[in-house]
This record gives sequence, C-alpha cells and structure tokens, in this order.
Amino acid sequence: MSVDDDPGPPSPPARLRVAVVGAGPAGIYTAEALTRQQEVPVAVDLIDRLPTPFGLVRHGIAPDHPKMRAIRDTLHRALDHPAVRFVGNVEIGRDLSCRDLHAAVDAVVYTYGAALDRQLAIPGEDLPGSLAATELVAWYTGHPDADRSTVETALARARSVVVVGVGNVALDVARVLARTPAELEPTDMPQHVLDTLAAAPVEAVTVLGRRGPVQATFTTQELRELGELAEADVLVDPADLELDGAAEERAATDRVVSRNLAVLREWAGHVPRPGRATVTLRFFSRPVRLLGEDRVTGVEVERTVVDQDGRASGTGETAVLPADLVVRSVGYRGGELPELPLDPHRGTVPNELGRVLRGGEPAPGEYVAGWIKRGPTGVVGTNKHDARETVATLLADVAAGVVRPGGGGADDLVAALRATGADPVLLEDWRAIDAAEVALGATRGRARTTLHEWETLLAAVKEAAARTR
Ligand SMILES: Cc1cc2nc3c(=O)[nH]c(=O)nc-3n(C[C@H](O)[C@H](O)[C@H](O)COP(=O)(O)OP(=O)(O)OC[C@H]3O[C@@H](n4cnc5c(N)ncnc54)[C@H](O)[C@@H]3O)c2cc1C
Repeated sequence: MSVDDDPGPPSPPARLRVAVVGAGPAGIYTAEALTRQQEVPVAVDLIDRLPTPFGLVRHGIAPDHPKMRAIRDTLHRALDHPAVRFVGNVEIGRDLSCRDLHAAVDAVVYTYGAALDRQLAIPGEDLPGSLAATELVAWYTGHPDADRSTVETALARARSVVVVGVGNVALDVARVLARTPAELEPTDMPQHVLDTLAAAPVEAVTVLGRRGPVQATFTTQELRELGELAEADVLVDPADLELDGAAEERAATDRVVSRNLAVLREWAGHVPRPGRATVTLRFFSRPVRLLGEDRVTGVEVERTVVDQDGRASGTGETAVLPADLVVRSVGYRGGELPELPLDPHRGTVPNELGRVLRGGEPAPGEYVAGWIKRGPTGVVGTNKHDARETVATLLADVAAGVVRPGGGGADDLVAALRATGADPVLLEDWRAIDAAEVALGATRGRARTTLHEWETLLAAVKEAAARTR
C-alpha cells in the first residue's frame, strides 16, 4: 500500500452540538446528563439571559436557607466540565431568535423555567401594595430586573401583611418578613434589602389558605421553621384543625399531612406575647377583593368549605383583614418564547418525554426540561430526573438518525453572538462576579453579598478582564 492510499487515523466522530436555554437547575442537570453519557461526544452551550448561572437557586431559594442555597456548589461542577460552555448575558428571543439558535446547533433544549406569577383574578389585585411573590422574591434575592421602587414603597408602610397561598414560597415570604434584622444579617441579601426589611414596620403576617391544612402544599420542615422565629409567635385557630371524614382519611394515609397537622396542633393554643410579631395561619379563607382607594388597606375574605374531593366553595360568610401589603403566592407559570409553542393553561411547552410538540407532532431537535416542561412543581433535585429523561429522548433521536451530530451550522455560537453586538459572559467572567460578591460580603463579615444591578455585575467582569490584560 502506498503512502497516498493510507487513510490515516480515523477522524473523530462529529460532536453533537447542543444549546441549552436557561442555566437554572434543569439546564445544568441537562448539561451534566449530556456530558455523562458515552453514546455520542457533545459540546454544550449553556445559555442564560443573566450574567450568572443557577436560576432560582440564586433568585428563588430563600437567602435565610444557606444550606439549600449551597446546592449551587454541586451544580457548579457541571459548569466546570470541558464540554460545557456557560454563555450568560444572552437572552434567547431578544439577542438571538429560537430559529437562528436552532440553525446554529444540532439540538436545542429549552430550560427557561416558569417565571411568571399566576393571578388571583379578583378586584383590587393591581392596587399599589399588592405584590406578586415573584416580585418580592426577585427583590430580596437581588435579581437585577427587580422593581425596587414598587417593592420598597410597599414595604415602607407594611405593618399588617396578608400572604395569599399555603405553599413553601408563601411560607418563605412570611418567614423573611417576620425575621429580625439580626436573623437576616448573615445572609447574602443585598445591603439595601437588609436595610429596607429592618425598617419595615411589620407586626402581623397572615397566611391565607383557600382550603384546609390537609390540602396545604408546604412541607413540614418549612412549616416548623415558622415556630423557630426569634421574635414572632405563630398562631392557628384550633377550629381550622378539626377534620371531617375525608380530611381524617387523608391525614391517616399521607405522612406529610399528618406531620404538618402535628406541628399545627402544637401552635393551636398559642397566645401572642406582647411586643412580638405574629404569623397567623388562617385556613378555609379565600380572598374575594382587595380593599383600598389608591393603595391596599385590607382584604375581604370569604369562609370556605372543602368537599370530599378537596374542592373549596364559598359559604357567603365574609370578614375584612387589615392589610398594608398583600403578597400573592398562588403559583408560577411559564411565559412564551417567540417561535416556541406554549400551552397557555398549563404554562408549559407541549412535549412528549421532553420532545417539543408542534401542532401535536414531535419537533426533532427541540426539547424541554425543568419547570417549563412539567410546570412549577418539585424540589431542585426533581429537575435532575426530569433532565435525564429529556436527554434520553434526545439520544434516542440521535440513534434513530433524526438528529445528526455536526448537522447544525458550523459557526461558533459565541463568535456569532459577538458579531451581532451581544456581550456574552463566559465562565471565567462569572467567576469574576463570584469573587466580587465574596469580596463585597467580606467587607461586612459575610460569606457573600449578591450584586443586584446589571451595571455592577457587568462592571465586575470588565474590571477583572482589565486586570488580566
Ligand atoms: C421562590 C422559590 C423558592 C424555592 N425554594 C426552593 C427550595 O428551598 N428548595 C428546593 O428544592 N426548591 C426550591 N424551589 C424550586 C426550584 O427553585 C425549582 O425546582 C428550580 O429552580 C426549577 O429549575 P428550572 O431550571 O426549570 O428553572 P429556573 O431555576 O427558573 O431557571 C431558568 C433559567 O432560565 C433563564 N432564562 C429565562 N428565560 C430565558 C431566555 N429567554 N434566554 C435565556 N435564558 C433564559 C433564567 O434566567 C433562569 O436562570 C423554589 C422555587 C421558588 C420559585
């Protein structure tokens, strides 16, 4: 055989180029599942509209839950993988269309979460002093898009607060509002958040559940924490804890429900102590209207009864609760990305095992994972299993030849983005932000303080780049 005939070493198999849209838990677990499989070599661009990764782990999980927030140290490992590139500060639908993104890679996995709040659909909902939990949580976690003036104006006069909803987010909000400045001091909340919360005159927080304690969706650990607040007493009306037959049966078969009831019963006899704030859990009460002329002054609630199937209906018996601040925490839903289908009722992208459905038909090369796939349920870890399912679907499409590695455009995505004027933030840039947050925290003896403004976040990147030039 002559040298000319020698085919040389075989060329390496083409890499499957995958863009993952959203660097929250679902996106990161998707990247991790892609790098852990052996079937096909991959190159993953993990895109986020923020210059920071971790999604709701950074801008959702309550800052007074440092152990839970520390999950980002585990998530970080996936970002460090050589086959994964974090591409922050790039919003799909604004900086690059879904169509152009799809054309640039072999497959796209959408993991952009469910960031919109569900509405109560009652009169007065839009009055000043009525906030969605999304707004308040974004503000206290230092999300750069948070509306500071709306939230801070509402908090300045928040003596009586009504939180609508009995899930974990509602309890997060109630707990954060009832904490003392000393309890919040070690957190990574931005300084203006700590100062505003310290100055807020909160005396009474009422958490409203439309149905009974048996139907509440909070977990026992979150519930129990309310009883450990330094300067607030938890109150529950013992009458709300009397169970009918169906509720009794549910409590006997559901361990979370029976544990929650045990905790609630410990509090049922509580009498508020003078000089302390109160957190009242009020069940069988649905808001029918927010009262007030130019801002919220109260909530009209109607007593409900719950039927055998757990459905609530009004009894016509109403009461007025004073409120200077109402926080609506009745769930999240996904928003629309231009060119991507969305089920408006569920607030999710229609899909089958993670494969996007367009007009009911599978759209090869387009996938979803996380909250935008299944809705806003479960804990951070739930997204791991969910992402694995989606990646298995994607790999099945590769094996079937429906998705071909190397089939997408050859351009480097980051170079293409820069050519259009976008300013992608890469992993080393995020490290500069991370270091700046740690340094800022250290000035007050804290482990970290969140940078909360776009300018400051991007300045940290530029300053680090200038230092290394
Ligand atoms: C207030 C709150 C508190 C919570 N507390 C806990 C807790 O204590 N423990 C727990 O286990 N779970 C908790 N959860 C649930 C947990 O946060 C979610 O399960 C998880 O974050 C969902 O992951 P995700 O990746 O689907 O969405 P997200 O975490 O929302 O991530 C989506 C990412 O997509 C990005 N994005 C959005 N649109 C675009 C776009 N157009 N282009 C590019 N990027 C985009 C966003 O910036 C974000 O980073 C909490 C949730 C909330 C809302």
